[in-house]
Amino acid sequence: MNPLYSSLSQVKSDLESGKTDCISLVKHYLSNIEKKKHLNAFLEVYAEEALQLAALVDEKIKNKTAGRLAGMVIALKDVLCHKGHKVSSSSKILKGFTSLYSGTAVERLLNEDAIIIGRTNCDEFAMGSSNENSAYGNVKNGLDEQKVPGGSSGGSAVAVQMDMCLASLGTDTGGSIRQPASFCGVIGIKPTYGRISRYGLVAYASSFDQIGPFTHTISDTALLLEIMSGADDFDSTASSKPVEKYSEKLNFNRKAKIAVFSDCINHPGIDIEIKSRTLNYIEELKSAGHEIEFIDFPYLDYLVPTYYVLTTAEASSNLSRFDGIRFGFKSENAVDLESTYKRNRSEGFGEEVKRRIMLGTFVLSAGFYDAYYTKGQKVRRLIKEKTEEILSRFDFILTPTTPTTAFGLGDKTDDPIAMYLADIFTVQAPIAGIPAITLPLFQHSNGMPYGLQLMAGSYKESELLAFSSDLMK
Ligand code: GLN
Repeated sequence: MNPLYSSLSQVKSDLESGKTDCISLVKHYLSNIEKKKHLNAFLEVYAEEALQLAALVDEKIKNKTAGRLAGMVIALKDVLCHKGHKVSSSSKILKGFTSLYSGTAVERLLNEDAIIIGRTNCDEFAMGSSNENSAYGNVKNGLDEQKVPGGSSGGSAVAVQMDMCLASLGTDTGGSIRQPASFCGVIGIKPTYGRISRYGLVAYASSFDQIGPFTHTISDTALLLEIMSGADDFDSTASSKPVEKYSEKLNFNRKAKIAVFSDCINHPGIDIEIKSRTLNYIEELKSAGHEIEFIDFPYLDYLVPTYYVLTTAEASSNLSRFDGIRFGFKSENAVDLESTYKRNRSEGFGEEVKRRIMLGTFVLSAGFYDAYYTKGQKVRRLIKEKTEEILSRFDFILTPTTPTTAFGLGDKTDDPIAMYLADIFTVQAPIAGIPAITLPLFQHSNGMPYGLQLMAGSYKESELLAFSSDLMK
């Protein structure tokens, strides 16, 4: 589907020439949200408020006091705190909870006059690969409504895919931005761990979680990243490394050196057409003068298990705070203190979240801690060091983003392992903490889009975006 605008620069030139204004933009997106309501991408739409904000931004544009994101209408995944607005992580347990403050990334967008149009549906606590784990119903892929949009940031991906906003924010712990972006045909990036503050993000696995945007163009990705990145007094894991002007450096200007993992391309789970198209594309890159080498990555089979051991451990700890006592869901069946905890949590959390809390509690339990958690940490270190060693010799690692295109609704809900394996190519980047992007370069003969993934060394967002920008031309 062709959006009315695919980049902020197009919006800006029409704002300048008077061809449009922010109020008309917001009305356009609101009408698309209404038309596509059945896709269930939004949990809440701030129609009135967005129109009021649009009037304010129009005024600022007239007075030449508008920020860099004037004209950008965005949506937020329902795990990001936005002061005075509800945030539920698509979970019943946070029902009715209102954010007391805005997260740093959100605050920085608002300071540049972005207009937030609503909050989007996702898998509960960002756990899932298909958006079928939301307490508020699944999201449908706008290109084929029998198919999943991917997860966990499925609502944010569909919101951009179906022109319900110009860009959106998601979060990526093991692929939750890149996998839905690939399934929906848009750009998605997971920045380096620590590039964007996590303050005001409801935690899933704190040493993996990163916020990132969904957009149609690299220039918008670059600008949003540039604005959201940087040190933050409220998050000690946010890096104080200076933020480059990504949006002004979108030419790569040289030939790239790229590694491809032979075992990835030859993985038995990969769709045959995705394999052959990716191989063709590699040939095209070679003909364009880029240097590509097929190499071995010895830890491919350990990626998904390491990810699930460590993230469930962190999740079991992070989610222990939700007990329904001070806020959120309260069971009517509780009779005393113990049953209050048990009932609130048993009835407030969904199946997948409970599965992960139990798995995480198990791997952290006294008798098994060393066998699972400590071992998982060691394997993470090996994967990280090997990945960094490869990226000291190459500019990028190239893989398909996903082994298949968007699968059918309900296809994998009964088989958690099959669902977890959908993340095979996306978990490496968060395990290693490096940035990774998916580019919507391909279309399958089944009619669905799919992406090409590039990973780069830590804090190499600038190179990653510049090269991506060349590939998208
Ligand atoms: N699909 C992965 C999972 O279920 C990734 C989720 C994420 O990145 N938040 O854990």
